[in-house]
Amino acid sequence: MSGALTLGAVVAETRAALHDAGFADAAIETRILLGGLLGLSTTEVFTQADRPVTESERAKIADAVARRLRHEPVHRILGHREFHGLDLTLSPDTLEPRPDTEILVDTVLPHLQRIVAEKGSARILDLGTGTGAIALALLKECPKAQALGSDISPGALKTAAANAHLNGVADRFDTRESAWFAAIEERFDIIVSNPPYIPTEVVDALAPDVRDYDPRAALDGGEGGLVAYRAIAENAAQHLLAEGLVGVEIGYDQRQSVTQLFEHSGFSLLEQHRDYGGNDRVLLFRFAG
Ligand code: GLN
Repeated sequence: MSGALTLGAVVAETRAALHDAGFADAAIETRILLGGLLGLSTTEVFTQADRPVTESERAKIADAVARRLRHEPVHRILGHREFHGLDLTLSPDTLEPRPDTEILVDTVLPHLQRIVAEKGSARILDLGTGTGAIALALLKECPKAQALGSDISPGALKTAAANAHLNGVADRFDTRESAWFAAIEERFDIIVSNPPYIPTEVVDALAPDVRDYDPRAALDGGEGGLVAYRAIAENAAQHLLAEGLVGVEIGYDQRQSVTQLFEHSGFSLLEQHRDYGGNDRVLLFRFAG
């Protein structure tokens, strides 16, 4: 890049670089990346084609494009992303929240609102909270709920706490370092989790954007991808209040195996939902005793 460049020229150049490197969504990624770097909306990236791009902006863009060409996801480069109306900071210790996980939030939300209507409050546990995405989205939507976000990673808990501040719900959000239920004694109205669920032998075959940038501990679900569900199913009942519910995200082929694990521990399947790609993605259980 040399001379006085316009945004239009930088957009064309960036899109071509990503496209030539085989990125299928080069156009939209260019809009998100440049918009994020320059503080513009994705629409403004196009409507402000004549805007001059300064030397320092060009250096920043070149660095970001180089990172993308190494398959670092766009939102990791920008350091944050939108999830269910929240702005969430990402860190190397946190899974990047996916739109599919919003379905878990939307599945649990009406139940949370019903419990709050009945009891005046509700307590949520988000196991393996990561960025805090699920718990914080529920807190934002339901002002009388409180949540505990647990994670095995202290770095993730720092990010989750920062995200709670950023989104104005810190007074109702606590964090705790815990391997699943190991450091949890309390009971909750609703337990949610998007645990690691990729079978160990599949992790290495994932796209580099996921495999090389999402933390392995947030992806690797052990044998069959079911290790976390086993820990959750075996212990959830003793951490639920009366009429309590457990909502989990699952891998596309895990509906039957995860349902069996929970049924084996006395739960029954209340709801199941698919993701935007038509795959099984969310299961909601209640304790049947
Ligand atoms: N949904 C993520 C993926 O497909 C996996 C997240 C998880 O294991 N919980 O990469």
